[in-house]
This record gives sequence, structure tokens and C-alpha cells, in this order.
Amino acid sequence: MIQLRQIYEAQERIRHIVKTTPILSSDTISAETGNYIFFKCEHLQKTGAFKIRGASNKVIVEAQDNIKHVVAASSGNHGQAVAYIAGRLGIPATIVVPEDAAACKRDAIRAYKGRIENCGTTSEERIERAKQISGGGQSLFIPPYDDPFIMAGQGTAGLEIIKQLDEIDEVYIPVGGGGLISGVATAIKESQPGIRIIGVEPAMANDTYLSFQQGKRVNIGGSQTIADGLRTSIPGELTFSVVQKYVDDIVLVEEEDIKSAIRIVLTRMKQLIEPSGAVSVAGALKRKPEGKRIVAFISGGNVDVERIPDLLE
Ligand SMILES: *Cc1c(COP(=O)(O)O)cnc(C)c1O
Repeated sequence: MIQLRQIYEAQERIRHIVKTTPILSSDTISAETGNYIFFKCEHLQKTGAFKIRGASNKVIVEAQDNIKHVVAASSGNHGQAVAYIAGRLGIPATIVVPEDAAACKRDAIRAYKGRIENCGTTSEERIERAKQISGGGQSLFIPPYDDPFIMAGQGTAGLEIIKQLDEIDEVYIPVGGGGLISGVATAIKESQPGIRIIGVEPAMANDTYLSFQQGKRVNIGGSQTIADGLRTSIPGELTFSVVQKYVDDIVLVEEEDIKSAIRIVLTRMKQLIEPSGAVSVAGALKRKPEGKRIVAFISGGNVDVERIPDLLE
């Protein structure tokens, strides 16, 4: 279990790297839902998602131990975050991506000076290859969520929320492997235990929902949800203990709910967000609290331009 103190240490460690992202609100959405709804805008974070918080906390700590090379297995936001922070610290990074990874994601990794290695199409194949590459000495595998430094880094977004807003009732957070929600829930519950933490998952990738119900980690196999950052098959081991301790409820949303949330945020707030970032908004709209002050955590905004018409249809 991570401690609040570790999240404050992370905040200190990464404050020269990450931005304090803004909170936006929309009177229209608030009026339509009968709540005061606020949006934590991590799609405006450096690299376009919150992942830079955990990745920089982890890589900076390990760099003190003389690490000479880092490896990650992700074509998405985690891979970009690891490439970015490694580049800033002058540490070579290898990012293992699936053979069918989108060109724009490869370009982003390359722009951050990451070296790309192609491997298979499943996350198992990629992770195995990444661990193999990092097998020796001063080369280190950077996990996407199940690691205390990653979790504490993500938790720094929770510290920001409680500093930026007063009297919050509920916070809605997207759940993939659980790094984000475990960090943010620890930061918030250990500071203001009265705030309710609600996890949101696509119904098509409901591993944490099922695990939460059954009180043990459940593996659902692969998922094809449009929320590509949330396609994990099983919650992390470390993250799930925190979910069990601090998360009050988990809501499921359909693919159509996610698309509709992207459209609402685009038309009302003029912000373009990615499907994984929109599930928190979809969850808040679906669960329908009344007269509450709620926060929807918009976790990222990286979406391929060619996919936009599809997402808005
Ligand atoms: C990784 C990611 C998530 C899920 O985070 P976990 O720590 O795996 O639960 C949510 N949204 C976006 C945009 C992401 O990149």
C-alpha cells in the first residue's frame, strides 16, 4: 500500500517536469445534469496524458541508481511518457510497440528520441520482449501501473484536485490497470476521507468491476473497447488492494456513452479528448448524482486525427 507521504515526495520530485493542469467547468453541462461538474484536464498535460506523472517519478528515482537504459512496452500514452522523461534526463529508451501501432504514435515516440522496437500484436508478447531487452544490469523495465513509484506519481493529480477545489462530493476516474485511481484515491482519501471515489470502466473491459464485486482479481482476457488505454485484462496486484480499500463504487459505460461524452466535451467545452479520457465524463452522466459537486477526471487527449469522424458519428 502506498502512503500519502510518497505522493508528496513524488510531487516534489516531478514538479519541474509536469504541469499543474487546469480545472474547467461548464454551466450548461452542470445545469443539464443538476450538479456542479468540474473537469480535471490531464489532456492538457505534457505528452497529452497523466502518464508522465508516474513515469517521471519512477525514472527520476531509478536514475539516481545509475540506470543507463529504460524499456517500456506500450504504443500508447505510457510509451510516450517514458520516452519523453528518458529523453529529458539523457537516458536512452527503447519502447516496444505492436507491429500494427499507428504511425502517429510511432512518430510521437521518435520525436521524444525513443528507439522503437516492433513485437507481435498482444501486450503479453510486448511485455515479454521488453523484459528480455531490459534483462541485464543497468537497463530497467518501467511498468505501466503496478509499481509504487508509478502509483505515487499518478497520485499527484489527486493532490492538485483537492488544492484547486473546495467541498467536492465525488470524483470519477477512468480505470485501466488501476495506477491512476489507486494513486489519486490514496491522495484524496488520506486527506479528505469524505470525498467519494468512483471508478469508471468500459462495459467491454470490466475486469476491475468484476474483481471489485468478487473480492479477488478476475482476468477477462482481451478487449476491443474504443478506450484503448483501458484494455487491461486483469487489475494490477498492488493497485487492486488500494481499489478495495478506497474506491466507493465502480460504474460501467457502453461504447456509445463514451462517444457521446467525447461529443459533449467537444461541443460544450471545445476540448478534444480521447475515449479513455471520456469514460469519467460518461460515468458521471450515467450515474446521475443530484445537487453534488463532482469532478470528472479527463485522463488524456491523444487521438488520431483520422479517427475523429468515427468517434463523433
Ligand atoms: C493509462 C490510461 C488510463 C488508465 O490508467 P491506469 O493507471 O492503467 O488505470 C486512463 N486514461 C488514459 C488516457 C490512459 O492513458
